[in-house]
Amino acid sequence: MPRIVLLSTGGTIAMAGAGGGGGGGGGVEIALAGRDLLPSGGLGEARVEVRDLFALPSSGIGLAALRQLDAAVCEAAADGDPVVIAHGTDTLEETAFALHLLAADGPPVVLTGAMRAADAVGADGPGNLSAAIRVALEPQARGLGALVVFGDEIHAAPFVRKTHAFRPAAFSSAPLGPIGWVVEDRVRLVMRPALQWPALAFGPADPRTHVLSVNADTEPDWVYAAAAGADGVVLELSGGGHAPGRLAGVFGEIAGRIPLVFASRTGGGETLRSSYGYSGAEMDLLARGLIPAGLLDARKARIALALLLSREVGIEDVRAWFASV
Ligand code: ASP
Repeated sequence: MPRIVLLSTGGTIAMAGAGGGGGGGGGVEIALAGRDLLPSGGLGEARVEVRDLFALPSSGIGLAALRQLDAAVCEAAADGDPVVIAHGTDTLEETAFALHLLAADGPPVVLTGAMRAADAVGADGPGNLSAAIRVALEPQARGLGALVVFGDEIHAAPFVRKTHAFRPAAFSSAPLGPIGWVVEDRVRLVMRPALQWPALAFGPADPRTHVLSVNADTEPDWVYAAAAGADGVVLELSGGGHAPGRLAGVFGEIAGRIPLVFASRTGGGETLRSSYGYSGAEMDLLARGLIPAGLLDARKARIALALLLSREVGIEDVRAWFASV
């Protein structure tokens, strides 16, 4: 009988306590251990080994928790076991992308969660977990990196995002769509992403990285404040990578000291390289040493930046990694 490792990390899938979920009482809190998450049926032929890794709302899953997750995934992979991770939905996409880069070649790593607490009417956790286990057991899921299974859809980690605040169908890979689905007891993988970001491994450092969302009224002081004490910053810019021209010099100065990555806030396409030449547009920013995130949104770019900087690499290494796709 195949073995699967279920890593429980917290999130709504492990929450209960609002008398049926939402609208009353003190709100739901983490109340369930990993073994309580397992659906009573629908596990196929798998033997599930449960590990309670931590119990956090996913807004609190930072680099230290990602290290723990990576170590647990590596341990399972060393035994050849696929991994399913029960995780909060809020930052599931960041964790999925980190593990996609960290555990690229091993057995499948499948993340899922729930939008409704375990004691809510129509709780979606057991169904999502059952589907995630099916996908983890699917031989064709090997080699796809980390996958997110939610609402019977299978999403590739580089493209998936949480795109709704409360409905059960909260995940989307727009504008591309899921790479497969689970129907009845069958796993259908219908597409394989053609692009592959270079694998990364954690280094010993704990870099300070964050995202600054820039708009037309962003003050230079705020940009300096964002860069102060940071080892790297991701700017979330409009369009294909466009900022107010009066910030371009500030960006250029900072980009000489730390990796300053810029990502598009549009949620589709990629940063441009050679379309717009005005001050603050992508051609100007590139000339000033900023690093384009390419297809990655700001949140995923920050994850990659943090993993790179944990290895204490220089600005040019960061640039080369982002340029590789
Ligand atoms: N706040 C929760 C979390 O991310 C939301 C969820 O799991 O759906 O932990």
